[in-house]
Amino acid sequence: MSHSSTPLPAPADILARLSAELDASILLTQPDDIAPYVRDWRGMYLGQAVAVLRPRNTEEVSHCVRLCHELRAPISPRGGNTGLCGGATPDQDPRNVVISLDRMNQIRTIDTLANVMVADAGCILGELQRAAEAEHRFLPLSLAAQDSCVIGGNVATNAGGINVVRYGMTRDLVLGLEVVLPDGEIWNGLNTLRKDNTGYDLKQLFIGAEGTLGIITGVVLKLLPQCTARGVALAAIDNPQHALELFSLLYRSCGQRIQAFEYFTHDCLELVQTHVPQMRSPFDAPYAGYVLIELGDTTDEAGLSALLEEALGEALEQELCVDVAISTSLAQTTQFWRMREEISEAQRADGPHLKHDISLPIGQIPDFMASAAQRVEATRPGTRLFVFGHFGDGNLHYNLSRPEGAATSWASDEGDALTEAVYDEVIRHGGSISAEHGIGQLKRHAFLEYKDPLALKLMRQIKQALDPHGIMNPGKVL
Ligand SMILES: Cc1cc2nc3c(=O)[nH]c(=O)nc-3n(C[C@H](O)[C@H](O)[C@H](O)COP(=O)(O)OP(=O)(O)OC[C@H]3O[C@@H](n4cnc5c(N)ncnc54)[C@H](O)[C@@H]3O)c2cc1C
Repeated sequence: MSHSSTPLPAPADILARLSAELDASILLTQPDDIAPYVRDWRGMYLGQAVAVLRPRNTEEVSHCVRLCHELRAPISPRGGNTGLCGGATPDQDPRNVVISLDRMNQIRTIDTLANVMVADAGCILGELQRAAEAEHRFLPLSLAAQDSCVIGGNVATNAGGINVVRYGMTRDLVLGLEVVLPDGEIWNGLNTLRKDNTGYDLKQLFIGAEGTLGIITGVVLKLLPQCTARGVALAAIDNPQHALELFSLLYRSCGQRIQAFEYFTHDCLELVQTHVPQMRSPFDAPYAGYVLIELGDTTDEAGLSALLEEALGEALEQELCVDVAISTSLAQTTQFWRMREEISEAQRADGPHLKHDISLPIGQIPDFMASAAQRVEATRPGTRLFVFGHFGDGNLHYNLSRPEGAATSWASDEGDALTEAVYDEVIRHGGSISAEHGIGQLKRHAFLEYKDPLALKLMRQIKQALDPHGIMNPGKVL
């Protein structure tokens, strides 16, 4: 970043200028109004800001950013604040300005001939899904926070979720972007073309950049055919190797119809049963782990069910699963999904814990799970493991909870050593320390330590080229 010797405007000067230039209806300056915008969803970070700006359209975002650029005021872009790495929380600089996209919530167009949707960045993901459904189309991006997170935040974090195994990450669903650059200029990249090989694909820079290169104000999304038929089953398995082989068998027999392939251990299920009433397992006995399988298709439900039954019958014969429950009702499907989706909340209720959102080459998962468990136990005996995740795309949530009877300060006392043990194993197995949640503040040190130095150098050059004054979301990622 460039450094000039001119003193930076003080918080009071920033406030005076913003108040003079901006419509009062988009400016929050009172501490009580600012407070909700300077803390993260998990309650891990508390930052500072001199003001919160809530622009209503792209031109207003541009005006806000232009002013901040002139004042060299650091900007924290903010979506739904469901990010799990503290990326939307400003740091301790009292000169920070939060720019929230929550008022930019209009769907601009839905085109069912081109199968695209153009939306403001502040649209809530769940609302976009429902709008697509009303047009008999499917927006496959789906995650437990979908009724709080917004599409700009999803793009900025390159969110994953439960359908990645079939449809890919957010990046795979974005055709174009509109972005306000750090100097306030508007880049109109709202491309709806499926094919466009004219030079560098600039939108890719902003996808997953966590607000460090500009503010996304508009998004062009691909829409997919709606799956009218759904087949859901829970398979009990003895070990992760069998989960891997089961995935391979299903991939061969059901192909692209695999919509989700989610894994969780019995410890996760027990935790959910402890904290969520009436969560009954469909099996009579406990098993080491479970895989939640969902198939989706545009054909008839009977055909899909037959395909699922046949594939799981073969898996039972090959002893890849020990028991199988195929859902026969919407209520049962909902129950199966709740077993998986309530794990995070159950772990929260259980007390302090460490989250590790990691990815691995899928074939390495069984070996990783064995060696990481040993490393964790050696680092802090008795640490409880809660392992679950999007197994089909190699993404595990390798979460740790304190040993029985350990102090509540366990996470701060021993977290660094435990996380290092997990990350070392991830890297040793060719994986990534962030699969879908990003870097934010939480993983910044680990990212700088583990990432390839040349990749870091290139990223810094890109940052310098687009944001030479370093005002976009400082303290995040790089
Ligand atoms: C219960 C729960 C379940 C979750 N499950 C998943 C999951 O399965 N998969 C997954 O990937 N994530 C998951 N998440 C994490 C989170 O929902 C995603 O990271 C989501 O994409 C964040 O969107 P947001 O609108 O809340 O962004 P925020 O938290 O507001 O921001 C996230 C980052 O994006 C930046 N940003 C926000 N808006 C913009 C913008 N318009 N322009 C530029 N930068 C911007 C922020 O500065 C910040 O760095 C989960 C979270 C919760 C709470």
